[in-house]
Amino acid sequence: MPDLLALSARIIDSGTDNGERTNRLTGELSEIVPGVAMVEAFGHVVAFDTGAGLLVFDTSSTRFGEQVVEALRGWRDVPIDTIVYTHGHFDHVGGAQAFLDDAARRGHPRPRIVAQANVVPRMVRYDLTNGYNAIINARQFAPTRRTEMRQARFGSGFVTPDFEYEEQASLRVGGLTAHLRHALGETDDHTWAWVPEHRAICSGDLLTWVFPNAGNPQKVQRYPAEWAVALREMIALEPELLLPAHGLPIAGRDRIRLVLDEAATALEGLVEEVLRRMNAGERLDAIVAGVRVPGHLLQRPWLRAVYDEPEFVVRNTWRLYGGWYDGNPAHLKPATDAELAREMAALAGGAARLAARAEALSKDGQHRLACHLGEMASLAAPGEGEVQRIRAAVYEARAATESSLMARGIYLSAAAESREAAGEPG
Ligand SMILES: [Zn+2]
Repeated sequence: MPDLLALSARIIDSGTDNGERTNRLTGELSEIVPGVAMVEAFGHVVAFDTGAGLLVFDTSSTRFGEQVVEALRGWRDVPIDTIVYTHGHFDHVGGAQAFLDDAARRGHPRPRIVAQANVVPRMVRYDLTNGYNAIINARQFAPTRRTEMRQARFGSGFVTPDFEYEEQASLRVGGLTAHLRHALGETDDHTWAWVPEHRAICSGDLLTWVFPNAGNPQKVQRYPAEWAVALREMIALEPELLLPAHGLPIAGRDRIRLVLDEAATALEGLVEEVLRRMNAGERLDAIVAGVRVPGHLLQRPWLRAVYDEPEFVVRNTWRLYGGWYDGNPAHLKPATDAELAREMAALAGGAARLAARAEALSKDGQHRLACHLGEMASLAAPGEGEVQRIRAAVYEARAATESSLMARGIYLSAAAESREAAGEPG
C-alpha cells in the first residue's frame, strides 16, 4: 500500500514532485489513517468506517465502479450506509450502480445517496446535451481516450440521489458526523464536507492537484471567486487531513493551508484583475492578452496548468460578470467565418498563400497567428489537400507547445480532422 501522506508531504515540503505522479488511476485502496481509506481512480473514492457501516464520498466513473467496489471490499465487508456525491460529474457519480449492485449481491440495505440539490438538474441538462458532451469529451481527452469518450453516455443511467440539500446539511452515521457545505466552483452543485472526528475535509474537485478547472472552454459556467471562498472556508476550520477526489491526500494543518491558500490566491488574483480591466472598459481581447497568474504559483506541483489553464479562467470570468459580446463591434453580428476567410484569401492571392504564411509563422514559433491563417486557409479552401495538410501541421505544432490537456485536445482533434480530410492517417 503506497504511503500517500508521506508522498504528498515530501512534495509539499520540498515544493517539487521530482517527476512523481500526483494523479494516479491505479484503482488501489490505501488506508490513509485508521478507519479512513482512499481508492485512487478517475476520480477517487473516499470511505470512512463509522462503526455502523461505511460513509463514502463519490463512486468514481462507470469504468472504475466495479474495481473501486472490489478494492473497498478488500478493506471492509460491512454495509455502505451513505454515499455522498461531491458533484454530478461522470467521474464521481458514474460508478454508483456498481455500489448498488454490490449491496444487492450481499443482501445489504441499499445505501442512501446524498447530494446538493443542483445535481439532478445537471443530470437533466446532460440528457439535453448528450451528443454535445460525447463530442467535447472526445475532444478534451484526445487523443488517448477519444474512443472511450465518444462512446460515453451522459445523464441517462446515472443514479439519482435519494436525499438533497440546498446550502448545508449534517449527517450522522455511526460515530461520525459529516457537515456538508454547498459551494460554487468547478460546478454549481459542489459539496465539500467537514468530518470533525478526524479533523478531515473531503474537498471533492475543489482541490485536484492541477490548476483549478475554472475555465474549461467547452463547458458551462464555472465560478472562480466563489471557488476561492470555499477554499478559505476550509482553511478556517484548520483541518489536519484533506481528502481530495483527484490527486494526493494531505496531512498537517500547515501543508493544507499552504496548498489551499495558493490555489485561492491564484483564482482571486485572476478575478480581481479581470474585473478591474472590465470596469475600466477594456475589451475581452485585451484582457485575455494581459492577465496572468504569477509564474511562481504555476510552478507549484499542485497548481500546474496541465489540465485547465488561467487564460480560460479569464474568459470564464468575463462570461460570468459580462455578456458574450467581447467588445469588438465587428463581432456583434459578424460575417460567417467562411465568408471572411474567402475574402482574406482573395486579398492574399489565394488560400494557398494564407496556408504558406501559416506554415512559416508556425515554424517561427508564432503559433497564435499561424492558427488564424491556417484556419482561414482551410475555411476558404476546405477541399484542398495541401491546405488541410498544413492546417494539421500547424495545429500539431501548436499542441506540442501547450501545457494544458484541454488546449492540446482541441488542437489535436482539429489536426486529426484535417489529416482525415487530406486522406492521411491521423
Ligand atoms: Zn472530477
